[in-house]
This record gives sequence, structure tokens and C-alpha cells, in this order.
Amino acid sequence: MRYLSLHNVPINTALLLWIGFMVAGCGGEQADADNSPLLAFGRSAVEAKPPLTAEESLAEQFALYSDSVTWTTEYGEVRSGQSLSHILSPFGVSNATLHHIATEHRDLFDVRRMRQGRDWWLFRSAKDSTARQFVYGIDDREYVVFGLTGEKTARRGRYPSETRRGYVQGEVRGSLYQSLEDAGHTTTLAYAMSGVYAWTIDFSRIQPGDQFRIIYERDWVNEKPAGLPRIVASEFLHRGRNFPAFAFDQGEGLDYFDETGASLRKAFLKAPVSFSRISSRFNKRRFHPVLKKVKAHLGTDYAAPRGTEIVAVGDGVVTKASYTKGNGKYVKIRHNGTYTTQYLHMSRRNVKEGQAVRQGDVIGYVGSTGLATGPHVCFRFWKNGKQVDHLREDFPPSTPIKAEAEASFEEACRVLLAEMAQQETDDGPRLAALDQ
Ligand SMILES: [Zn+2]
Repeated sequence: MRYLSLHNVPINTALLLWIGFMVAGCGGEQADADNSPLLAFGRSAVEAKPPLTAEESLAEQFALYSDSVTWTTEYGEVRSGQSLSHILSPFGVSNATLHHIATEHRDLFDVRRMRQGRDWWLFRSAKDSTARQFVYGIDDREYVVFGLTGEKTARRGRYPSETRRGYVQGEVRGSLYQSLEDAGHTTTLAYAMSGVYAWTIDFSRIQPGDQFRIIYERDWVNEKPAGLPRIVASEFLHRGRNFPAFAFDQGEGLDYFDETGASLRKAFLKAPVSFSRISSRFNKRRFHPVLKKVKAHLGTDYAAPRGTEIVAVGDGVVTKASYTKGNGKYVKIRHNGTYTTQYLHMSRRNVKEGQAVRQGDVIGYVGSTGLATGPHVCFRFWKNGKQVDHLREDFPPSTPIKAEAEASFEEACRVLLAEMAQQETDDGPRLAALDQ
């Protein structure tokens, strides 16, 4: 069964066999097999070791290597209002030592930032009960060790972590968040997905019937998931069109690409009209030529002859095609969860509310309706609901897969698609049927 035809790289049975074992069921997270084509995500193996006492294994966990000391350990959680001295003074730790930790090691970890509910461990010598090492669990991944005797050194460390791979497929009912929860997967995947597709799919507009399947990775520390899941590969069927995404690093950090090797991040056009000149820049204190007073100009004006085509600077959906006394005839486009643009003073609009537009589509024509002294388009740009100067924005780059990385990218895609086909369950929705 084929899901997606990568240009000239059909999936074959031999490859499927090569991929290896199949995991039954609608995938939970499983230990990472060695078939990961993804280069960037590190993992560490946990080796089998001879049995240790509880104290020994705890000491080992925090890399407290000492042949000569037999430990006894205390464990607790930081309680409300508890400071380091509240915890350590009862064990005979001197004020001088507490002061040393608080001041000498402040850059490494400021003990005033110890938080209620976090774990701590105290290691004492079994022979004379001297408190030797104090460990504070900073978060799920990291801890800090303070030496309480001798040199009183301190260091930060990380718990061993293991990367597990998960697979989920489903159909959107209500929201993606809800669908993931129903499928028994972490809802933080919805957040990760909206990041991957921020430039392609407006997740506030996904609809019942949209389908998805996702291979993801997550770090596990101390038998608990830590941090956010990372999307390794996904397909999202939105309004009848499949949007694949593959994580790949071509030497510039991890990015997401579609099956043709195009970056999922799309650059906006620099201006909504070609052959124009900027007649007024974004300026929070501008003297308004019509109103004759200082008024913030939260847009960029492009002067152009009446009737010049105005184009959408990016893909999106028209949320307004309307008229006001100030704006004249105008159009507003929502591009994704982050960006919205608006185009004012049109002589004529060319789109309707609710209409989907692609980058470069003609949405209207230059005019001087509303408060305008001459024909121009006032271009306005919102980022996260706030009007910004788009000329000063740093947009993420959208480099496609380079020629030299093409072969390895195609191989990675092929393996990932095969993995998805392997994981696919019979009771789930069929992206394939809609993808021919
Ligand atoms: Zn303007």
C-alpha cells in the first residue's frame, strides 16, 4: 500500500522487510530501535550492571564515585518556605558551609531558587554520619551536587536519558488536542505539530475529518517523559490535501521539509505590490497628513499608480474584505497562528471573506479610498496579535534541501514512510485512500 509517492522513490517490499520488526497496536511510546534515520537526536544506552545496594545505585546515579565511603542516604522534598539551612542544619552542616554554598556556587546554582516539591538527597558517611554530599533535583533532567566537606566543590549533572519513539494516527474530532488525548497520547504533541506546520496549516481552522499520523520521539528520564515530544515525521490531511513533514538536518540544524524537499517554513513576499515605492514607514509618532496631528502609523505605505495589483504576501485565509471610513476598502488575511496582514485604501477588492488565498494571488487594486491623500496601499502586519514593522522582522529562513543532501534526504523520507506504513493500524483512518 502506498501513502505518498515520493518523486521517483517508490517504497518496496524489500525495504519494508529491511526496516524490521513490527509493533502491534496503535503505538504507544517504545524504546528506540536502531532504525532511526534521524541523525540529530542523541540517545544513550543503559547498560546492565551487577546488583548494587540502594545507596550505591543512588550514588552512582549522581556520579558520586568513592571506593572508601559507604553511604547512608536521606531523601526529601523541599517543603513550602524551606531553605537550604532548614534542610541541612539538622544534619550538622555548619553555617559556614551553608554560606559557602550560597555565595561561592551561586553562578552554578542559586540555592534561593530551590522550589517547593523538588527532590533532594543527602549522602552521609555510614561510619561517622558526616554529611558529605547534598544533591538537589533542579528539574526532570538536571541536578546539582554540593560537596559539604573538604574542597566543598559543586557541579551540575544530568540524569541518564533514553529516547523513545511513538506513533499515533487518528482523525480530528473537535480539536487535534482532543483527538490526541482520545488516542491516549500526550497532548503536547498538538503543540509540537502546530510548530512544525505553523507556516502551512492554520490549526485554529482544522476541521473534523482532517487526519494525521505522526512518528515522534521523546526523552525519558527516570522512567518519566521529560520535555516536549519532537516530531520525526508526520502526515496531515487537511481539507483533502496531504501535508507531509519530515525532520532532517542538512547541516544547519533540524528543520522540517515536505516530500519535495521544500522547507515547511515559507518566506513572505517583501511587499504586496511590485514597482512601488515606500512613501511612509511604520512610525509610532507620525504627523498624519490628512488629520493634521501626531498619530501612530502602524503600517508601511507603498505608493503605486491607481489600479496596480495588490497581492497576498503569503498563503492564508481572508478574514475581512470590508470597508471603513478610515481604511477605505480593505482586505485582511490570516496566514497562520502567528501572522496576519492587512491591505488598505483599495480601489477595488478581488477576494471575499472566508476565501483561501495563495502567496501572490491578486486580492485587490491600489486606490485611495478612506483616509488617503493619493493612491497607495497601507500594508499592516500583525505578529501574535500585535502590529509590528514587517521590515524590521527577522523571519525564519526557508532553505530547501540542497543538491548535495538530496540523496540522503530522500533515503530518510523513504525509511520514515515505510516506518509509518509498518505502524499503521487497521482500525485507524486511511490516509492512503485519499492520497491517490
Ligand atoms: Zn499607511
